[in-house]
Amino acid sequence: MERDRIFLSPREVFDAIRDDFNQYGAQVPLYLNLCPLVFGAGGWARDSRGRGVWILIGSRGKMHLVEYRQLGDRICTKLETADLTLAQLAGICRQVFRTRAWPGESGAIEGVRIETGMEPFDCIQCGQCCRNIGYPKEAEESDVARWRKAGREDILRWVGLKRPESNGCVYRIWITPGTNQPAAVCPWLEKQPGTHRYRCRIHEVKPDICRQYPGSRKHALMTGCQGFEKAV
Ligand code: SF4
Repeated sequence: MERDRIFLSPREVFDAIRDDFNQYGAQVPLYLNLCPLVFGAGGWARDSRGRGVWILIGSRGKMHLVEYRQLGDRICTKLETADLTLAQLAGICRQVFRTRAWPGESGAIEGVRIETGMEPFDCIQCGQCCRNIGYPKEAEESDVARWRKAGREDILRWVGLKRPESNGCVYRIWITPGTNQPAAVCPWLEKQPGTHRYRCRIHEVKPDICRQYPGSRKHALMTGCQGFEKAV
């Protein structure tokens, strides 16, 4: 998969939009831009007291107040049942992900191509992602397999195992060795003496979720990453 351009089927687009809305909380200006597209010009109205929007729900033509914190979920549900063209879906992706998007296909599947905007990204090692966003709480099985294969007992000592009701393994990171307690800060992050830079001491084998951050320009902007500042 190219890092600066991804292909999503319509189902994957809906899931990505829902993830975006869940991840960043109420994005009121975005929601207001989407309302006419999703509910139709006469299907919604802003609440004069700023509580949310009034939406036409059901066949009886009754308006219901939906507060902003619930509006993202309502938009997602409506999108999933609306009969949208791929061009309309691409237009919605442009607004949600703040990037270029257009109808496309991959093999026999039609969907939307979306630019991630990652091309000018240049990590400045400010450490903001590791220090302030909160390091990940779970590792993938593929991460643990990589550490085992490399004989990285130093890393595996910081991994806990949680067995959910299903049979799969869930690995917890980073658990202070000899305790069942998560470490207060990532144990692998190290400040470079005399600089404002940080380095990851397990950079070559770090968890996939760390490697994949930020997933897009919007993800970076919404979480305080400064890796695009030189590109602005
Ligand atoms: S916040 Fe962005 S620029 Fe800073 S260390 Fe993390 S990825 Fe690099």
